[in-house]
This record gives sequence, C-alpha cells and structure tokens, in this order.
Amino acid sequence: MAEKNVCTSCNSMLDKVASLLNLNQTEIDVLTIPSRSFTFSFPVIMDDGKTKIFTGYRVQFNSARGPTKGGIRFHPKVDPEEVKTLAFLMTLKCAVTNLPFGGAKGGIIVDPKKLSAGELERLSRRYISTAYKFLGPETDIPAPDVNTNPQVMAWMLDEYERLTGKHQPGMITGKPVELGGSAIREISTSMGGYFTLREIMKDRKMKPEQTTVAIQGFGNVGLNIAKILSDHGYKIIAVSDSKTGIYDLKGLDVRNLMDYKKSKKGFDKLKGVKKITNQKILELKCDVLIPAALGDVITKNNAKNVKAKLILELANHPVTPEADDILGKKKVEIIPDILANAGGVVVSYFEWVQNTSNYYWGRKEVLDKLETQMVTATKEMGRTCKNFKCSMRQALYIQAVNKVLYAERLRGVLK
Ligand code: GLU
Repeated sequence: MAEKNVCTSCNSMLDKVASLLNLNQTEIDVLTIPSRSFTFSFPVIMDDGKTKIFTGYRVQFNSARGPTKGGIRFHPKVDPEEVKTLAFLMTLKCAVTNLPFGGAKGGIIVDPKKLSAGELERLSRRYISTAYKFLGPETDIPAPDVNTNPQVMAWMLDEYERLTGKHQPGMITGKPVELGGSAIREISTSMGGYFTLREIMKDRKMKPEQTTVAIQGFGNVGLNIAKILSDHGYKIIAVSDSKTGIYDLKGLDVRNLMDYKKSKKGFDKLKGVKKITNQKILELKCDVLIPAALGDVITKNNAKNVKAKLILELANHPVTPEADDILGKKKVEIIPDILANAGGVVVSYFEWVQNTSNYYWGRKEVLDKLETQMVTATKEMGRTCKNFKCSMRQALYIQAVNKVLYAERLRGVLK
C-alpha cells in the first residue's frame, strides 16, 4: 500500500476542493501521496569527542512541474509527518507562484542553539554526505528554513561539491552572495509578503497609515516584515521573539528594536516597554496579524479570540484547519502561507536561474521580478476567489491542484 499524506489540514482543504473540482480517487492519490520520503540516521562527532546519532528527513513530494524544492529545518520538534505536510505545501506554493518546481522539505531533529559552530558545521555536512545522491540542481534543491541560514547552506554546498567533484551552486539556494546566492534572498520572504498584503489591502481600500500590525516572531522574516511595513507607514503595535512579546498601541520604533536585537538579547530583558505573552499577541486588537514564527499557533482554542481583520501567514501552517473554519465564520480573512510567504522560494528560483546560467542580477532587477511574480499570483488568486466565491485558501488550492494535475496529465500519469 502506498504511503498516505496524513496532513489533516491538507486533507480537509483538499476534500473541499476535491468536491468543487470533482476529483476522482486516483487524482486525490496523486496529489496526496509523496513520491519519495527518506529517514536518515547519521553520526556526528561532538566537541567532547563523543559520537552522537542524529535523525534527519527529506520528503520529495511531487515533481510533475519540475525538480522538487524546499527548505531544511533544524528543530527539536521536527517530525516526519510535519515534514511531509510542509513538502505538500511546497508543491502547492511553487504551483501558485508559477515556478517550474515541485515541492520538498527536510529537517533534522536538533536544537541548534545547543551546538557549537563546529558541531553545527559537522551536522550540516553529514546530512548532505548522507543524502547527496538524492539531491541536485535537476533533482531536488534544498534551501534555508527554520533555524538554518546562508552559512549552513554554504557548508552544505561545499560538502556536495566535494563529493561530486564539480561546482554546482544550483544544488541549494539561500547561499551567501559570494557563493552564488541571489541579491535580496534574505529579505525575500518578507518582501513577497509585503507585495501580497499591499495588493489585498488596495482591493479592500485599506490605507497603510491607518493600519495597525502585530507580528509574532522576530527572526529573519518577522524582523524584516516589521521594518518593511514600518518604512511604508504601517503602525507596528506589537512584536515578539521566542521568549516574550512587547507592545505599544501608539506604535513601536522598529529600528530601535532591530538595534537592540543586535545585542542578541531577548525582549524579556528590554526595559521600559509593555510586555505581552507570545500567545496573547495573537489576540491583540489590530488590523493585520502576522504569525511569522512556527506552525499551529492559531488553534481551535484561541481562534475565537483573534481580533485582527486580516492574517498574513508568513510562517508555514500557523493556522490549524479547525481555527481556519472558526476564523472564516468570524469573517477574519487569511492570506495563506502558500502565497504570503512564497517570496522566499520565488527568489530561490531566481537564484537557481542565475546559478544555472552563470549570469547574476542586481538588487533592483531581483526586486522588480519578485514584485511582478507576487502581484501576478495575487491577482490570479483574486480572480479565482471571485469565480468560485471562495476563501483565499480555497482559491489557491484550486489553482495549485489544477496546475499539478494538468502537468501529470501531460506526462501521461493521468488520463
Ligand atoms: N523555506 C522556505 C519556504 O518554506 C523557502 C524554500 C525554498 O526556497 O526552497 O518557503
């Protein structure tokens, strides 16, 4: 028996779309069964000289539209079912943004904050030396995700090239610019989210200067969206890191907070500001709520307390399916992850194109191309919402499902 995608939220959304599009069981199977999933166990020598065995995963979900694409996360709670869900979502994300990629995701069960730089490097290299035969610029292309960054990508690239004996920068994206990374890749997820939010707000006649925003997460994505939105006149009333949240209904000074974060201290140590928990930040009265940290943070338990008008999902899968239904009834609109945070993979695609053509673009060129790609995808979603009189999530699922199934049909997999 083939392995099923057990992602309940994906299945429940897919069920709704399946009946709308009249999908048969074979089509549903093609969409929900991952084509390859790997579990790797590998040894790493720790600084104390002892060997520790780590577990890592890679799921290559569907490659009908091109090589599979998706990040690798390092987190103590990485779990194979979640990796599968995220690989499924990457398949949809690449389809809705019209990228010639399928979807994948990987991860290692580890708390990287507890590792030295040397241990982190050995762990990253060992993941690649274990998995490299299944990766490549024309096969499966990893990228950063939760707790991984350009330095980790650089070690992974180096390990891959050492084993294959060739320069192949296109085997991984999110690299440092000096090793073939793209201009603006580090701000791309947040920039993409901004372009999408701007288009949706224009459509709903919402004005930036009258818009209050609360952001959960102040890592790369949360910090950059805070900066971009405050530069465009939005009022950022609350932000949080993994320890605590801070808020000021008159608006926070984002640049000061960015300077403070350079000291690597948590907001819990920041004096002279009002504090709020990570949970309560999601329930603040604001116009736009941006979950920009981990998944499953808005659930059936707290969805009824959400007071935002719009949710921009910059994290992957921050709203559970039950919460999605509750928010729908409350008329809270959700700009779904597979579009809202797709700026990262869009610029990853540009990076891969630059790597495979050996011709590099400047910041403005990348930014303009990202804007075009995000605005086009947002407009396409708007048209589907109107045609089907459905939510943004349903519209994106409809589009992605149609595109993936069409590619499968052209390949002769489906008749
Ligand atoms: N980890 C990011 C995401 O979830 C980027 C993936 C990529 O660039 O391949 O979209």
